[in-house]
Amino acid sequence: MRTLILGPQGSGKGTQAKLIASSHALPHVATGDILRAAVAEGTELGRQVQPILERGDLVPDELMVGLIRERLASEDGFVLDGFPRTVPQAEALDAMLDEIGKPLDAVLLLEVSDEVALERMLGRREEEGRSDDSPEVMRNRLRLYHEVTEPVVERYRELGLVVSVDGERAVEEVAREIDEALASVGASQP
Ligand code: AMP
Repeated sequence: MRTLILGPQGSGKGTQAKLIASSHALPHVATGDILRAAVAEGTELGRQVQPILERGDLVPDELMVGLIRERLASEDGFVLDGFPRTVPQAEALDAMLDEIGKPLDAVLLLEVSDEVALERMLGRREEEGRSDDSPEVMRNRLRLYHEVTEPVVERYRELGLVVSVDGERAVEEVAREIDEALASVGASQP
């Protein structure tokens, strides 16, 4: 199964992506995690992206597409979390998957209001002390979600791939609805 999960920061997409990955035995490919690990390890990529992450801005498409191309090259199935975040990234992903004849099965959209997203980001910041989550950076990330990532949702909606899920409910309820949705789009096979 090839699926991706879209939604603003604070929508719970990381949590849900991990649950799907473990219940379907799929790799959870989270671009934010990959970038934060690169920063922590002090690699060349990490040095390049650190200031971008600190501002809550987006890493250039070219860099992200290269990274994902490499990461997905040997995977048959995956749960993609945090990518694509721009229309050019989505176009590159679709072209990549078309080339190998392995299109996406479903695009999950976790819907939450800005108020709930901000509240959850603030809570997470207190728990984890994430430096990329200052209130100013959070607002920047939400603004970019609306301006740059929502057109990606529209693209996949037009292709009939989007399954919307109300992300404001409890983790287990959201997870149950996602499981049902994935089963009903026939995406439960490997
Ligand atoms: P996340 O954990 O998914 O919220 O990602 C953390 C940060 O990594 C984002 O605020 C961006 O700076 C960067 N990032 C992650 N994925 C992407 C992407 N697909 N395109 C551009 N920047 C990204």
